Amino acid sequence: MLQGIGASQGYGIGKAVIIEDLSLDYSAVKYTSAEEEKARLQKAMEDFTVETRVMVEKLKSSAGEKEAAILEGHLTMLEDPFMQSQMSDNIDAGMTAEASADTVCTMFYEMFAGVDDEMMRQRASDIKDIKDSLLRLLLGLNNIDISAVPKGSVLIAKDFTPSMTSQINKENVVAIVTEVGGVTSHSAILARAMGIPAALSVLNATSVISDGDSLIVDGFKGKVYTSPSDDEVAEFTAKQKAYLEDKEGLKVYFGKPSVTKSGVVKKVYGNIGKAEDAQNVIQNGGEGIGLFRTEFLFMDRDREPTEEEQFEAYSTVAKAMDGKEVIIRTLDIGGDKAIDYLKIEREENPFLGFRAVRYCLKNKDLYKKQLRALLRAAYYGDVKIMIPLVTSLDEVKGVKDLIEECVAELEAEGTPYKRAPLGVMIETPSAAIISDLLAKEVEFFSIGTNDLTGYTMAVDRGNANVSHLYDTFQPAVLRAIEMTIKNAKAAGIMVGMCGEAAADENLIPKLVEWGLDEFSVTPSSILATRRAICECE
Ligand code: PEP
Ligand code: MG
Repeated sequence: MLQGIGASQGYGIGKAVIIEDLSLDYSAVKYTSAEEEKARLQKAMEDFTVETRVMVEKLKSSAGEKEAAILEGHLTMLEDPFMQSQMSDNIDAGMTAEASADTVCTMFYEMFAGVDDEMMRQRASDIKDIKDSLLRLLLGLNNIDISAVPKGSVLIAKDFTPSMTSQINKENVVAIVTEVGGVTSHSAILARAMGIPAALSVLNATSVISDGDSLIVDGFKGKVYTSPSDDEVAEFTAKQKAYLEDKEGLKVYFGKPSVTKSGVVKKVYGNIGKAEDAQNVIQNGGEGIGLFRTEFLFMDRDREPTEEEQFEAYSTVAKAMDGKEVIIRTLDIGGDKAIDYLKIEREENPFLGFRAVRYCLKNKDLYKKQLRALLRAAYYGDVKIMIPLVTSLDEVKGVKDLIEECVAELEAEGTPYKRAPLGVMIETPSAAIISDLLAKEVEFFSIGTNDLTGYTMAVDRGNANVSHLYDTFQPAVLRAIEMTIKNAKAAGIMVGMCGEAAADENLIPKLVEWGLDEFSVTPSSILATRRAICECE
């Protein structure tokens, strides 16, 4: 049995599929002759064409003609005579096939990425895909199509990036196992959002487990059973059945108010990372959105999203929620959320460094685009703006000043907008300690226990060696939460919680007792959170 961290509930019984990390480092490849290098490149291009055609056909049935056409475009791009002649010239000049493909694709990439047009930028990301595929084929590495794994697969990887996770077909994947990450890592959050059991931080999982191994994953306890006995399979099949029945029982809470036995009404909201997830919140009975993590809009792309693109995403959510509250958090990057094109320098201590609102206030043009998009989206629903990682009053004042600038601009242009209420996340000890002062500056708080626990206990969220200290029930963390709620109440502002602890059935009675107003949880936990509230006195 392998021990990791239980990060997404449920039991998965199936066969291992190892997702290898592909290293596209070709520095060890030696130049042979121009003829040989050209032949290798030619072969890679032919293989690429065959592979792409197969994927195009698959995509036509799984995703639709439009998605398939994008991939088909890759073939046309690679056939470009200028591109081909450049690659050939580079080889004549002494480059290996790998270096030549890399250089030419990078040149095209930079050309497209530098144009301020969405179509062109899409081309840039297509070129990056082509480059990675060519290098993979030249280096003889196998591609694993995550979306095509068979039914009953347990995916094993070092880690899952959001783009990898987005390829997962939840019909076929029964569990996820990673070597890194904890309960609050983004792969955990995404696994929970999809309702797939997950065990994370399972040391050496990709080397200890082999492709095709039979496995049981206990997503509650983070255990992975290799080569389980028939008895174990029977035991966990029964547990999975009971778990699914409990989930079924939760359905009676759908559409019910979140009200305690003594009649105090609470709000149970959902956390989302993409505009489409709003549907997930509605389908799970959420009464609003308590956290829209906008950094996902900025990730897995080559340039920052434009104001229009952001407006589209935020207003789509505002409209989908049809007048229900939508709390949108401004860009929370840095730390574990790196975005290459923002060129944040490597730091010794990224979690204590230049991130989130600190970065945004120093990059006003970028931040103002987001604030303008938010103010414009607020016109279409009940949108609220939330600032992440606040540690000082000056930061709040800085954001307010920028909002005023945006309001003045929108007003002068005659662009429709609405002033959106402003709130802060309480996710640092300093914010909790000055929550009485912050409460005078904003209209709501949302307690981010994922970071608050880490920063209060001085513990890294994903480090298995210190994970015993990463505990929301530590008195220091509980005091910070209680103090924040008390200060919000004293100032008469709304206080919610959007960290994972908001769904902790052992903590909910305390939060209710202290007077927390809103619980924002991963959509698959909405009904269980409501039940726990309804069972409180
Ligand atoms: C938190 O820190 O509790 C939080 C909700 O933010 P994130 O998990 O995105 O850092
Ligand atoms: Mg946080």
